[in-house]
Amino acid sequence: MRALAVEGVWKFYGDYPALRDIGFDVQPGQCVALLGRNGAGKTTLLRILAGLSRPSKGAVKVFDKDHLDRSARSAIGIIGHGIGIYDELSALENLRLFAGLYGLQSPDKAAHQWLERTGLERVKDGLVREFSRGMRQRLAVARAFLHRPQLLLLDEPFTALDDRAIALLQSLLKESLAQGSTVIMSTHQLREALELATHVVLINRGKLAHTGLRTQEMLDDPTYLYRTYGEA
Ligand code: ATP
Repeated sequence: MRALAVEGVWKFYGDYPALRDIGFDVQPGQCVALLGRNGAGKTTLLRILAGLSRPSKGAVKVFDKDHLDRSARSAIGIIGHGIGIYDELSALENLRLFAGLYGLQSPDKAAHQWLERTGLERVKDGLVREFSRGMRQRLAVARAFLHRPQLLLLDEPFTALDDRAIALLQSLLKESLAQGSTVIMSTHQLREALELATHVVLINRGKLAHTGLRTQEMLDDPTYLYRTYGEA
């Protein structure tokens, strides 16, 4: 069973094709680095995969079900710009809310456990509106992992994190991958992403430029990918 199947996805903003016939499969346990220059279409694609935006054409399947199915959605964990964090709630209230929505058996316990893991226990009652970008991003990490999702869709997950939080996120990702979860992440931090990645997907101006294994050449020189498959 494929963890993710992207089939002929197009997205138009007005007349502008932000995604042009994107198609690729991801098998369970793979970690895919979704790469491309600014404006290539990574955020647009991740939002579509997460069911937050509709493709103009094409389909997305998660574990062989339509990605908008309830069971598919509960298998997904997401990090993205301002996704699913409520400013007027505290960190604890946010996590409790999502733990409840995901139907976890002990929402309170799960919320506290993730506050602790992400180093937010001390500020758990602070309103998110007053959080720094780094604290918000830690909360976004906690929210994404809270329900132990089988498929993680992460848009720039390392952004705004300090070194310690980057190391924490990397170890959470490694742990999830070791447990068989699948990860797709877009990032500008090529090195962090390529170290973890088993595969790469490169998008160039809305088109798939390359999909395949993450190779040693890419690790030795992260710009290799762009030079080899990059700007047409
Ligand atoms: P970045 O790395 O800068 O976040 P990206 O690869 O994630 O870039 P997208 O944000 O997906 O790229 O944008 C792809 C293209 O679609 C860009 O040209 C962008 O200007 C355009 N675009 C994105 N969202 C919209 C929108 N809501 N309305 C119109 N155009 C949009």
